[in-house]
Amino acid sequence: MKNYIKADEWRIIEEGFDPHYNKISESIFSLGNGRMGQRANFEEAYSGDTLLGNYVAGVYYPDKTRVGWWKNGYPEYFAKVLNAANWVIIDVQLDGEQLDLAKCEVSNFRRELNMKEGYLKRDFRAKTASGKEVKVEATRFCSMADDETGAIKYTITPLNFSGEITLTPAIDGDVVNKDSNYDEKFWDEVSKANNPNGGYIVMRTKKTGFEVATGMQFSIQQNGEIIEPTAEAIEKEKYVASKITLSAKEGEAITVIKYAANLSSQNYKAEELVEQLTATLDRISAKGFDTMLAEQAAAWAEKWKHNDIIIDGDISAQQAIRFNIYQLNQTYTGEDDRLNIGPKGFTGEKYGGSTYWDTEAYCVPFYLSTAPQKVTRNLLLYRYKQLGKAIENAQLLGFKNGAALYPMVTMDGTECHNEWEITFEEIHRNGAIAFAIYNYVRYTGDEAYLGDYGLEVLLGIARFWSQRVTWSEDREQYVMLGVTGPNEYENNVNNNWYTSTIATWCMQYTVEVAEKVKAENPEKYAALVSKTNLDEATEFGRFKHIIDKMYYPYDEKRQIFLQQDGYLDKEQILVKDLSASDRPINQKWSWDRILRSCYIKQADVLQGIYFFEDQYDIDTIRRNYDFYEPRTVHESSLSPCVHAIIAAKLGDEARAYEFYLRTARLDLDDYNNDTEDGCHITSMAGTWMAVVEGFAGMRVNDSKLSFQPFIPGKWSSFSFHIGFRGALLNIKVSKEGVQIKNASDIETTVLVYGKEQVVKANDDLLVEA
Ligand code: BGC
Repeated sequence: MKNYIKADEWRIIEEGFDPHYNKISESIFSLGNGRMGQRANFEEAYSGDTLLGNYVAGVYYPDKTRVGWWKNGYPEYFAKVLNAANWVIIDVQLDGEQLDLAKCEVSNFRRELNMKEGYLKRDFRAKTASGKEVKVEATRFCSMADDETGAIKYTITPLNFSGEITLTPAIDGDVVNKDSNYDEKFWDEVSKANNPNGGYIVMRTKKTGFEVATGMQFSIQQNGEIIEPTAEAIEKEKYVASKITLSAKEGEAITVIKYAANLSSQNYKAEELVEQLTATLDRISAKGFDTMLAEQAAAWAEKWKHNDIIIDGDISAQQAIRFNIYQLNQTYTGEDDRLNIGPKGFTGEKYGGSTYWDTEAYCVPFYLSTAPQKVTRNLLLYRYKQLGKAIENAQLLGFKNGAALYPMVTMDGTECHNEWEITFEEIHRNGAIAFAIYNYVRYTGDEAYLGDYGLEVLLGIARFWSQRVTWSEDREQYVMLGVTGPNEYENNVNNNWYTSTIATWCMQYTVEVAEKVKAENPEKYAALVSKTNLDEATEFGRFKHIIDKMYYPYDEKRQIFLQQDGYLDKEQILVKDLSASDRPINQKWSWDRILRSCYIKQADVLQGIYFFEDQYDIDTIRRNYDFYEPRTVHESSLSPCVHAIIAAKLGDEARAYEFYLRTARLDLDDYNNDTEDGCHITSMAGTWMAVVEGFAGMRVNDSKLSFQPFIPGKWSSFSFHIGFRGALLNIKVSKEGVQIKNASDIETTVLVYGKEQVVKANDDLLVEA
């Protein structure tokens, strides 16, 4: 665990330059706007340890699968979000000597991520080997208001010399993915050009053929005056730059403003990219840096209006929760239903920017409450549009008749995870996709979605489950063989309770939704029956038979759901009795030892209890929590939040807070020593859930929001914004009680500690403690 980030309510601050932390900071200080993003790499050259990262949402490369033992049914590739052209470069030479912080004496170094207004600022002084000293201030952002664009303001002041300063703004498309399977380069150059104040490169991805045009325009000021120096055009393969040599005077600042844009053939015809790029660059440079920055601040103010959480009495917690919310907003804005939320967002390569079940299980609640309804709807539509591919995926594995198996990892709907125990077995992900439809409709009341899109997806998923179960003659029950549950520290187990539970729930919900759509919209239903060749009597009959006759492992003695058959045969040594040197077990133990152990990577039975808590009484929840939590090593960042929510429900406020702390500052404090690979974006939604569903106890009951709050840790109060069916609520939990402000024209009724409260439009009320 590190502790070098300075506490501040709205800013992430690093003071002093420690090259050992550079890659961690590059992740933490990342920028994004949903359409593109980048790690906090330096503008000037840096020969020290760095992970270069610029990403364009939805632009991926199918990297050929690399496995030791090929198995039938394996996906042929693993989709990777590509490291794209680097547009932040401004190379600096001082009388021919390169400015490179790895080779300089660095002082007054400060990096600041301003989360309120959405920009990154870096200041430092550097003394080169020859003794030249400069001061640099650099500010940059990816525009939220104009999401194909970004800008940098880079000011350099010579402190102890007058001489030649050469500035070379560049775009470098000759980049690689560190995680490339065969050390291949993923981009080909299509075209490039230079002009007196800028340039561009158009690159095309190999295999997938995406074209991305990345361009820059710059303006220079010396001592506050705009100047128009002659620039020397430099072109290399996949690289354009403009070298500007200025005669600099000691103490006089030189500023480069670099405007940049990334346009992709996902949104334009390839042949129009350059024209559109030029128009975009002209537009933003005419607007100017300050106006763009003001628009950025306004766009972020609008976001914060809907999703800020204010914590009084704990600055470090305040900083952490805002960091989580900030990163989620940078990763996904919900404007485009072809995009999704990669576990590392735009902050690193690992896990690509691909879509996992994380979206449905963890991110949907955040976006449902803090963004317009269309944002979550777009997340659902993403899967709807990929239903055909999910059906093909199931066919590849031998399933028939429209059965759909959504991929564990995907960019375009095709499965691209290539470990058999995940690809073939971690099928519970299908359930989360169905659950998200239920969750969306429960929250928004948008029942029309079911007839328009939801039912078709549900049917494909339910069909898959109905074919995936096996009738056991011996038990005279259906069983689910050979699966991997959310706890990936068990593979190929029989009857994982969570998977079987969500499978039958999917079938049940599908039948209920079908009945509803049939009754309310018979025409739509008939069209769907014909489109999907649904044989209602036979298929629903089978679903119902499976629901009635499903086997779920259960331990009578302890009265708990069993994670899977045989779980109790394992040696039951609790996590607290493991020596610290054994942990994390995924780094210390052989894989087979992990598989044979009782240790649980992340919520598994408890994930089911979290989703379906209404079906269980509090004693059942407690027994299962008390049994499974002490066996859980929480080696997935997705784990603590579910435990925080259940602990909160059980009234264990201290444990709930402890779990919350494990995720809230996971990246800021580099808890798991892996932040340098990128931030854990999807688990950030879990942090939000721990506050809102955990500490505030928010649920949706019968179309109403209900709260059961407590104040955790040393906080004196906390408040958050929630959008619910047109009402915009601010809920503040303090020692005085629960204050609810309704900043909308819609009256709403909420439950606080089980009692109904009517919150009038544009009014507020206090439910006293
Ligand atoms: C977790 C999965 C998750 C994936 C991506 C893994 O470590 O076990 O549940 O989907 O990370 O976040």
